[in-house]
Parts: sequence; structure tokens; C-alpha cells
Amino acid sequence: MNKSHHIKDILKNGEQTFSFEFFPPRTQESSEQLLQTIKKLSPLNPSFVSVTYGAGGRTRELTHELVVKLQHEVGFSIVAHLTCIGSTKDEVKNILQKYWENKILNIMALRGDPPKGVSSIVETKNEFKYAEELVKFIKINFSGMGIGVAGFPEGHPDSLNIKSEMEFLKAKVDAGADYICTQLFFDNNAFYKYREMCEKLNIQIPIIAGIMPITTKKGMERMSELAKGSTFPEKLISKISNSTDDSEVEKIGIDWATEQVMGLVENKTSGIHFYTLNKSKATLEILKNLNIKSQKKII
Ligand SMILES: Cc1cc2nc3c(=O)[nH]c(=O)nc-3n(C[C@H](O)[C@H](O)[C@H](O)COP(=O)(O)OP(=O)(O)OC[C@H]3O[C@@H](n4cnc5c(N)ncnc54)[C@H](O)[C@@H]3O)c2cc1C
Repeated sequence: MNKSHHIKDILKNGEQTFSFEFFPPRTQESSEQLLQTIKKLSPLNPSFVSVTYGAGGRTRELTHELVVKLQHEVGFSIVAHLTCIGSTKDEVKNILQKYWENKILNIMALRGDPPKGVSSIVETKNEFKYAEELVKFIKINFSGMGIGVAGFPEGHPDSLNIKSEMEFLKAKVDAGADYICTQLFFDNNAFYKYREMCEKLNIQIPIIAGIMPITTKKGMERMSELAKGSTFPEKLISKISNSTDDSEVEKIGIDWATEQVMGLVENKTSGIHFYTLNKSKATLEILKNLNIKSQKKII
């Protein structure tokens, strides 16, 4: 049951990966929903799944619980997200130690964002300032851990310019990251341009594309708040604005994401990572459409 693979080894096989992201549920009802989602998505046999870490470590225990449960009970290869902002080195070491003891071999090493009400990272008085430092820390203290880092095809909101952002990305990679997983995007050209910029900087690790289908107008608004910097193409905005109910919006979102994934698969993207929001329907539909349209079983 227990798979425990390093993501870099899964990616090394040259096959495109398909992975799913979940967040730790906070209520009985949302736990039940996640359980149903996992039941429905499990038969797809994802390459790996990842579990987010609430901003500022809000879900520290919940993330740990879900990661260990998925690892032992469901048997997926797991990536545990970990943010370092506002945490001490001892705290981070303890978290990593517990993962290591539970054979969790992959960490998504993130800076995270300052807690609400704190306007800048300088005010958090933390022992880590940037994700690069977390990557180095993991490399030194848990050299057997696999490491993923975040990438932003349309730029990170805190960046001064794309040149320095790419240099900081390169520093994370040189510090020991195995792969990059991107922020969600709706225009594949942004991803292809980003990949080219990485190539120019000699960043040679795999870049996994983050995809999140729009399912409701409200969800779209929330997405633009959470994924600051990700832009919605005019064509998509106009389709959604002209739709009259949420089932129409959902269909537009699924069709759009299907086209995106088709394009990414054809353009030899290392992997596709679905931000599932703990729901299965959109992801299942996209993958079903994909198998029909490409006339072969993609996943
Ligand atoms: C795939 C993915 C998963 C995520 N999962 C989570 C999650 O589970 N929990 C969560 O809270 N958040 C998550 N986030 C959000 C992420 O924490 C925020 O976007 C955060 O603001 C940036 O994190 P980072 O790891 O990219 O930071 P960094 O790589 O540290 O970059 C942050 C900013 O600082 C700049 N920078 C980097 N190094 C330096 C330097 N040396 N000097 C000056 N500037 C520098 C960068 O250009 C960038 O603008 C995720 C994002 C992505 C794309």
C-alpha cells in the first residue's frame, strides 16, 4: 500500500506526471467531502498528491495528520507543503523530523506569506526570510528529502522585476530543489515563456504546471485574490461574464482547463498538477475529456 517515492524519481522516468493537491479539512463535513474526493480520484492512480500548509502554519497539525493518513492508509506518494516564514529553525526541524520518521520523502519548500495584519516579511522577525533558505536547511539537515519549489509564470506579486525573480528562482534551484511546481495560470503561453526563461538560465529541473479549473463566479473572484498575479484571458472573462448560472460557468471552466491540459501534454510538459480544492468533479471531467479527445488513456 505504501508507495513513498521521491518525486524526482517519478519524474526521471520521462513520463508526464498527473498529481492532485488537497488542503487539510477543518470540519467533520469537509473531512467527509475530502474522503469522498479521494475515493473518486484514487482509481486514477495519480503520480503523487500534495497537501497544503495553511498560511503562517495555521494548519500545522492538520497538514501533518492528513499527510500521514494519506501515506499510510491510501498509499499515495506524498508531498507535504511547508512554509518557513514566521517559524524558527527548531520548529521547522521538528516538523521535518516527524515527516522523516513517517517516511514522507518529499517537501514543497515555500516561504509562505506574512500573517494577516502584518504588512511585510521583515516584520515577522523569523529565522527564514526566503524559500531558498528553507531549501538549504532541508538539504543540510535532511539530505534524503526530495524538494519541490514554487514558480510563478506570471510573476510573484512581491517581485521588483522578472529578471531578479528568475535569479531568485535559480538560487532556489541551485540550493537543491528537484522540481518546480507553478502557480495556477489560464494562458499556456505564460507557462511556455516561463519555461523558456528557465532554460536560458540553465534551470534544468522539471517544471510541473499548476491547473485550477474555474467552477463558479465566486470561486473565480477568490482565485484572483489567492493567486495574485495570475491573469484571466479576455476570452475567458467574457465567456464567464456572459454565462447565466453556475452550471454553465462550471462547464466553461472545465472546457478551458481541458484545452489547457491538452496543450500542455502535447507540448511535453513534465507534469500537470491539479489544484482540486478537495473536490473531484472538475478534475475527473477534465481527465475524461482528455482521454476522449486524445483518443488514448492519458491517466
Ligand atoms: C505550487 C505552490 C504551492 C503553494 N503552497 C502553499 C502552501 O501550502 N501554504 C502557503 O501558505 N502558501 C503556499 N503557496 C504560496 C506561497 O507561499 C506564496 O506565494 C509566497 O508569497 C511565496 O512563496 P515562495 O516559496 O515562492 O517564496 P520565495 O521563493 O522566497 O519568493 C518570495 C518572493 O521573494 C523574492 N525573493 C526570493 N529570494 C529573495 C532574495 N534573496 N532577496 C530578495 N527577494 C527575494 C521572490 O522573487 C518573490 O518575489 C504556494 C504557491 C505555489 C506556487
